[in-house]
Amino acid sequence: MEEPRGRRVRDEEACAWEALVATARRTVSDGLVVGTSGNVSVRVGDTVLVTPSGVPYDRLTPQDVTGVDLDGRQVLGTLVPTSELPMHLAVHRTTDARAVVHTHAVHATAVSTLVRELPLVHYMAAALGGPVRVAPYAAYGSDELAENMLQALAGRSGCLLQNHGTLTYGASLDQALDRTAQLEWMCRLWLTASSVPGLTPSLLTEGQLAEVTERLRGYGQPG
Ligand code: 13P
Ligand code: ZN
Repeated sequence: MEEPRGRRVRDEEACAWEALVATARRTVSDGLVVGTSGNVSVRVGDTVLVTPSGVPYDRLTPQDVTGVDLDGRQVLGTLVPTSELPMHLAVHRTTDARAVVHTHAVHATAVSTLVRELPLVHYMAAALGGPVRVAPYAAYGSDELAENMLQALAGRSGCLLQNHGTLTYGASLDQALDRTAQLEWMCRLWLTASSVPGLTPSLLTEGQLAEVTERLRGYGQPG
């Protein structure tokens, strides 16, 4: 039997792995990716657990824990980490993200081919920090893609990747996934509204968005 690479998996990492696998499976069941497209990461201390490259998420077991340090050195597992390690690590190194979700959601990817920024068709853009930008195209897995993505992400918790997909981050896997779903929904809304012949959707102003940003602080239940 092959020796597991790196150190022993800690309890907290085993729990985080279970949640990461559940999130990756949801990207498939929610229709945000097809097959082994997309990838997910979650940070536990200075270790970043990531989905392995090209492995169907329904095949992942508790024994497949795959983790790297913030420099990308593998510290857990033997499976090859996601090819998008440069994007995930760029976010974990430069933000307070606990989790990052990358998908090929279809409406978001369609929008990424049409505009440089998602028009402000809905106030939920405020939940992502403002108008969502499109990172210029670069090959998947490249350092250039990670650089373009980081620039598009400035002041936001999500962006589109031109001719490729989405990337969002959050304080938890659930928050990162929810932001992807909201982004995909907004892209679908804009495509729907802007495809009515002879009519153009109304857009919100930056001022209207700023008002919502304030309001969202008090959204939901107290505490
Ligand atoms: P991985 O299977 O290597 O994570 O790649 C999927 C992907 O979406 C690349 O952009
Ligand atoms: Zn991808």
